[in-house]
Amino acid sequence: MKPPLVPLTAVLELTLRCPCRCQTCGSHAGAPRTRELDHDEWLGIIGSLADLGCRRISLMGGEPLLYPRWGDLVGAGRARDMLVDLITCGLGVDESVAGAMRDCGLQAVTISIDGLADTHDAQRRVPGCFEQALRAIRCVDQAGLKVGVTSQVNQGNLAELESLAPILEDAGVIGWQLQLTVPLGRAEENRHLIVPPAMMPELLAALRRLARRPGLRPHLTDNIGYATSDDLKLRTIQGGFPRPWLGCRAGLDAVGVTSDGRVKGCLALPDICTEGNVRDQSLVAIWNDPDRFSYNRHYMSAQLSGACADCEQAQRCRGGCTATAYAMHGRPGISTHCFHLHDIG
Ligand code: SF4
Ligand code: SF4
Repeated sequence: MKPPLVPLTAVLELTLRCPCRCQTCGSHAGAPRTRELDHDEWLGIIGSLADLGCRRISLMGGEPLLYPRWGDLVGAGRARDMLVDLITCGLGVDESVAGAMRDCGLQAVTISIDGLADTHDAQRRVPGCFEQALRAIRCVDQAGLKVGVTSQVNQGNLAELESLAPILEDAGVIGWQLQLTVPLGRAEENRHLIVPPAMMPELLAALRRLARRPGLRPHLTDNIGYATSDDLKLRTIQGGFPRPWLGCRAGLDAVGVTSDGRVKGCLALPDICTEGNVRDQSLVAIWNDPDRFSYNRHYMSAQLSGACADCEQAQRCRGGCTATAYAMHGRPGISTHCFHLHDIG
């Protein structure tokens, strides 16, 4: 008998409220969703995750700091021996907020920065957002917490990544993750920003130059790669354990919950990949139903198409990021942005 699947990592969208209106926001954040989960409902979800064996919770939004009792949720997760981190745009994070982050038991804070000052402020549609994000990094660092940055890569900032690296390093960043902007949410309305397949060799060359930096180096997240000769090196978190690409983990060891209670294998997936709602059924029952999350739990090679259908790496890779495949092609199991297709040496 196969061992039960365990949601080792969970991403919780505490609210869709957000002070930014990013051009590239995949979830169209800004206003809250209708009837967002209340505090007791979130505590129940955190309890269910602990019961299922979850090891790490990421709190995000929207802007999770606009959920009034975020510190209490961190405490609830820590009380059940789970690591908890938080992803924020950094607006409003000063010494006092950073101290509260430390005191409630957050393990790490990740701040979104999508380019140099002018680009970041324009993409976020908030003047001064870049400077405030840098201030947040310094405050979190000085509070003694690990501070990372996540950057979306798009046509507006690809050429700036190498100039951004020393700025992030000087501010105190110790981890820098990159993800491709994909045509989801507001990014669907700003398709001119999406990196076309023809620019992937340029991105790969920039990543390889960045990988040779002596200081802060970025690492790839799930929707960039795969299967180049140096994918493991580019993907592994700086100073961390080797992290090979093992295909999409949504519904296998990863789960997400939206601020109105919907459960998905990953919050980047489209609504057709909703597996249930915690208001109708417990998270434990949804997760343990073998018929949910079928795109991964019942994966078949027939799901592959395009270049992925003939790829010798497909058994392990399964066509790259499922959410990106849905966003770009309306189905899982296909990638036109794979580095493997563009690895020109
Ligand atoms: S072509 Fe498709 S299956 Fe092959 S490595 Fe790239 S994304 Fe994965
Ligand atoms: S859909 Fe993409 S981002 Fe989400 S878990 Fe799968 S590979 Fe990762």
